[in-house]
Amino acid sequence: MPTGALPDHSASSKSSDAGELSLDPADWEEFRATAHRALDDAIDFLRTVRERKVWRPVPEEVRSALAAPVPTEGQPLEEVYRQFQDLILPYATGNIHPRFYGWVHGTGLAGGIVAEMLAASMNANCGGRDHGAIYVERTVVDWCKKQFDFPAEASGLLVSGTSMANLIGLGVARNSLPGANVRRDGVGDYPRELTGYASAEAHESAAKAFEIMGLGGAALRKIPVDEALRIRMDVLREKIAEDRRAGLEPFCVIGSAGTVNTGAIDDLDALATLCENEGLWFHVDGAFGALGVLSDSVRPMLKGIERADSIAFDFHKWMFVQYDAGCILVRDGAKHRAAYSMRPPYLNHLQRGLAGGGDWPCDFGPELSRSFRALKIWFAMKEHGTRKLGRMIDQNCAQAQYLRGRILEHLELELLAPVQLNIVCFRFHPPGLDDPRLLDRLNEELVADLQESGVAVPSTTRIGGRLAVRVAITNHRSRMVDFDILLAAMLEAGGRRIAGSAAV
Ligand SMILES: *Cc1c(COP(=O)(O)O)cnc(C)c1O
Repeated sequence: MPTGALPDHSASSKSSDAGELSLDPADWEEFRATAHRALDDAIDFLRTVRERKVWRPVPEEVRSALAAPVPTEGQPLEEVYRQFQDLILPYATGNIHPRFYGWVHGTGLAGGIVAEMLAASMNANCGGRDHGAIYVERTVVDWCKKQFDFPAEASGLLVSGTSMANLIGLGVARNSLPGANVRRDGVGDYPRELTGYASAEAHESAAKAFEIMGLGGAALRKIPVDEALRIRMDVLREKIAEDRRAGLEPFCVIGSAGTVNTGAIDDLDALATLCENEGLWFHVDGAFGALGVLSDSVRPMLKGIERADSIAFDFHKWMFVQYDAGCILVRDGAKHRAAYSMRPPYLNHLQRGLAGGGDWPCDFGPELSRSFRALKIWFAMKEHGTRKLGRMIDQNCAQAQYLRGRILEHLELELLAPVQLNIVCFRFHPPGLDDPRLLDRLNEELVADLQESGVAVPSTTRIGGRLAVRVAITNHRSRMVDFDILLAAMLEAGGRRIAGSAAV
């Protein structure tokens, strides 16, 4: 094994420094003490999270303290750390807490603290070149390809999240359109207007990708959903045919593997067949749901995902990895590379040395400089293993079913959507109160009440026009009892608002 040690040049180097600047610690032992304390504090912070409020607002004096002038002079690390403890740490989002269910936020992992610290010490730039971090990323991508039964020639890239992954995947679809050079000529010169399709419940990042790609948001057709909130295949087929008749060029379909509102999973197998028959690119937005392939109970619902041309998903949601960590996989690695690769002379690939190695990540997306995201994912998968990570997903689904059952027991609570995965949409609906606008406002207030009380954090959405309290469970710290606490707090806050009905 190489030791990495260099020959000793100390005899030839000057012994006294010439007053040259360095940003390294003047006293490494002092730095060590501060760093050790910060790590210890971080561990305590995580370990005691259950004892604290989920969230609390940032007070005015803290906001103004943070809006400080530019620090022209430095101060000891110890002092900066103290300010972090006072001004920043207490006002976290709350998603590390066992009763955080807002939006779809992952919880983070204790091991992630170590991985992030180590990645920072290496400070790798993962745009490319030949160094260890690149091999870790390749391994992580290969593991993902295996999970989704993707072929060896598939490619992948770690990205900030599914928004970016959707953009990159759909960008491959656009850039590899036959009979055109979209990279050189843009879409303006394309002979026919391009259109894509997704369910009305699809995440807006897909529409944003259409905007960024220069296709216009309206080019993404929003197809209505069935009662289980899945894309309606009959309407989709009709719409594609109609667009073709109108001289447009359908080029892709986006399947949702776990919609953000309710966790609905489109019929991916049917979408794959349709795309095959129609010659369309099949992209799957599986931000949180796609990792259901790790779970025995969810995997069957994802049948067909292995036939996708590209899959976008997040590790920071249902694999609980620290933010940010998403991934795009592309079945045809050559198309992926052709869509983004660009090698000016200063990025020349050489046969040996640091500028060597295999594929460089910068050839598979828009970013050149990139962080070592792969390390925290590698740590998470190694430390916990895919089996346990899959069982964690099962547990969250079981908790959603438990919550559903508890909601059905209460007359004042109303379920608003089927619970298919890990998301429960419901509302407080006391008998006799039927004004839709009042109910919407009441539930909006209740969610804010809960968040401000610090007991639990659900969020809101709209289901069939009605405001829903949304509980999305991508939380490995939640226990069944946490859902009892959530409902008790909700019923109590609801009762209070009804009693003092001026507030309703
Ligand atoms: C969260 C989410 C996204 C966006 O992912 P980011 O990681 O936040 O960029 C896209 N689609 C779905 C279904 C999501 O849940």
